[in-house]
Amino acid sequence: MKIHEYQAKNILKKYNIPIQDGYIISDINEAEQTILKVQEDFNTNDFVVKAQIHAGGRGKGGGVKYSPNFDTALRNAKNILGMNLVTHQTGEKGKLVNTIYITEAFNIIKEYYVAITLDREKRKDIFMVSTEGGVNIEDVAKNTPDKITKVWINPLDDLNNNDAEKLALSLKFDNDLKNQAKNIFINLYKCYKEMDCTILEVNPLIKSDDNKIVALDAKLNFDSNAIFRHDEILSMRDLSEEDPMEIEANKFNLNYIKLDGNVGCMVNGAGLAMATMDIIKLSGGEPANFLDIGGTANADTIKKGFKIILKDKNVKAVLINIFGGIVRCDRVANGVVQAVNELGLKVPIVARLEGTNAEIAKDILIKSNIKIIPADDLKDAAIKVVNEAIK
Ligand code: ADP
Ligand code: MG
Repeated sequence: MKIHEYQAKNILKKYNIPIQDGYIISDINEAEQTILKVQEDFNTNDFVVKAQIHAGGRGKGGGVKYSPNFDTALRNAKNILGMNLVTHQTGEKGKLVNTIYITEAFNIIKEYYVAITLDREKRKDIFMVSTEGGVNIEDVAKNTPDKITKVWINPLDDLNNNDAEKLALSLKFDNDLKNQAKNIFINLYKCYKEMDCTILEVNPLIKSDDNKIVALDAKLNFDSNAIFRHDEILSMRDLSEEDPMEIEANKFNLNYIKLDGNVGCMVNGAGLAMATMDIIKLSGGEPANFLDIGGTANADTIKKGFKIILKDKNVKAVLINIFGGIVRCDRVANGVVQAVNELGLKVPIVARLEGTNAEIAKDILIKSNIKIIPADDLKDAAIKVVNEAIK
C-alpha cells in the first residue's frame, strides 16, 4: 500500500527525523491563509509547493515548485492544484492532483539519496545511500553504481553503530553532521521495521546552509499483508489514487490488477495466473488484467470478478483458465453463466476448465447456450484467445 509524501513525513516525524514541514490543502480557497500559516509557523519567506500524488518524478514533471515569495507560492498553488501531472512513473495518462503540500523551503547545499528495502537474494534488509541524490537516482544506479553505498541488516537486528558510521562516512559527513546522519539512519531503519514497510526512500535527504540534515521528500510503501497491525496506516489510504476496479475486486477478496493489453484473464491461483500471462504473451497477445479468484471463490464472487473484467473497455476476449481443486469447476461455470446472462455477452470467451467436476462444468456451459470456445490445454487456450482478441 502507498501513501502520500506528507503522510510519510508525519510518520517520519514520530521517529525524530527532521523533515521539510508544511500543510496540505485540497481547496484553492484555503491557499492564502495556508501560505501565511507556513510563513508564521516555520518562520520563512520562501516556500515549496508540492503536488501530492502516489508517484515519483513530480519535480521533473512540474509538480514541485520553489516559490521565493507569497505571490509566487499562490500562483504555483493555483497552477498545481487540479493539474494533470505526468511523470515517468504515472504513465502518459498522468494523475490528477487533488491535494497540494505547501512547505517551508531550505537553502540546499547538497542532496543525498537514502533508501531501505528487502534484498530477497541475501534474505536481509538493504540500506543504501548515495552522494548523488535528487531527481536522477535511476541514472546513478545504471551508470555509476559504485556511487551507492550499501549495508545489509539482519531483520531481527537494528542498524548497528558500525554500519550507521559507514553510511554516514560514505556521504563525507564528519563531526556533528556525522552524528546527525547516524541518528537519522538508525531511526529510519527503526521506522522501516516497526511500520512493516516494503520501501522507505528519502530522496533527497539534504544538507542545508545552516548545517542541518533534513528529509525533503519521503516515500513509504507498506506490506499489505501486515496492514492489519496498523490501523493508522489504513486510515491514510487514498482511494482516489487507486484503480477503481482494483478497489472493487478487493472488496470480494479477488486479486485483480489492471494491465494494458486486451485479453481478459480469469484464473485461480497466483502461479497459474503468472503462467497464463506468460503463455498469452508467448502466443503474441497482451493480458488486460491479472485476476486471481483464489481458492474459495463461489458463483457470486466469480460473477463479480467476471463483471470487473468485462467493465474494462480494452478487453476484446476473455480466457477462463481454472484448475478445479478446492474451487470446483461447476461453481466457476455457474458464476460465468450468471455473469454473462446479466451483462449480455459482448466478447468471445475461451475456457479451459480442468480438475474437480470439469465434466459437469462443460455440461453447464453447453446447456447455457452462451457461446464459449472450449480449449484442450493451456497452449491451445492461449492461441485461441489471442486469435479472438485480434479479430
Ligand atoms: P520528486 O522526487 O517527486 O520529484 P521531491 O520532493 O524530491 O519530488 O522534489 C524534487 C526536487 O525539488 C528536489 O530534489 C529538490 O531539488 C527540489 N526541492 C524540493 N524541496 C525543495 C526546497 N525546500 N528548496 C529547494 N528545492 C527543493
Ligand atoms: Mg524525490
